[in-house]
Amino acid sequence: MTRLEDQIRSIREEALTGISHARELSDLEEVRVRYLGKKGIVTQLLKEIGKLPPESRPTLGRYANELKAELVQLIKEKREGLLKAKETREFLDISMPGRVPLRGNYHPITLVLREICEIFVRMGYEVVEGPKVELEYYNFEALNIPKDHPARDMQATFFVSDRVVLRTHTSPMQVRTMEAQRPPVAIIAPGKVFRRDSDVSHTPMFHQVEGLLVDKGVSFGDLKGTLLMFAREMFGKDAKLRFRPSFFPFTEPSAEVDIECVLCRGKGCRTCKNTGWLEILGSGMVHPALYRFVDYDPEEVSGFAFGMGVERIAMLKYGIDDIQLFYKNDLRFLGQFFL
Ligand SMILES: [Zn+2]
Repeated sequence: MTRLEDQIRSIREEALTGISHARELSDLEEVRVRYLGKKGIVTQLLKEIGKLPPESRPTLGRYANELKAELVQLIKEKREGLLKAKETREFLDISMPGRVPLRGNYHPITLVLREICEIFVRMGYEVVEGPKVELEYYNFEALNIPKDHPARDMQATFFVSDRVVLRTHTSPMQVRTMEAQRPPVAIIAPGKVFRRDSDVSHTPMFHQVEGLLVDKGVSFGDLKGTLLMFAREMFGKDAKLRFRPSFFPFTEPSAEVDIECVLCRGKGCRTCKNTGWLEILGSGMVHPALYRFVDYDPEEVSGFAFGMGVERIAMLKYGIDDIQLFYKNDLRFLGQFFL
């Protein structure tokens, strides 16, 4: 083996080590210039071989050219490898903490509405839903609300046309359900209702849950028992109710129902205006006149109905003093109800 053959071998080993140790593109470029640059080791070697006597030239020339081709190829492959690694580093830093995607959540009114429904479903009630754009007939007439009743006033009702309104309560479902089925009937009708009203305790759209039970021998005692059971499930087992005589066109007798103030436990505070009681719903025995519209026999069946504002229940349950907070889309407020 000639001195030059030996030299080619050791140049190759050094060059391969240099390539495999290159960690950055700049390291690799240094190796390339060192061996293949204009004044590079391999370039010089080829020049030297050119000056050799003709008989030594072919073999050594082949070795040197093979070495040059090998290095060009290895440097090319290494460069591609380094580029790929750099790209991956830029797009994926596996040491970074994961990004938690924002999760959607239910609105507090939806949560309270569902809780109310679940309580009544456990008592055997069926959930029914009806149209928000309602015929005047179902919203007023069939509920025994005569033409001159204040609830029909333009101030309170959104009219779509002469005979069509945005429902002002979920009570139309009482009549719609009784039209469609014979007693016994036990339903709750949850949903949006609309009234021309807006202040700290009113929004033009709010939610109601209407309840209706009609069967043989239903008494006012059943109504009291049912609502007390509901109040205890919703506000805790110590909840107390008070029934006050009232008037609704579609119930007789009628009662407004108060719950013992959840904040002061009946002692009297600002929220309950020192009365110790807070109004939560309206109720009563179904007015016999309603049975006329649906062909039920008032001699044979009786029933009770009740209606509550879901926002009102949510405000009492969570001590919220402004109904508008539910509809301002402020995540600091809504986030308190996230599951
Ligand atoms: Zn109070």
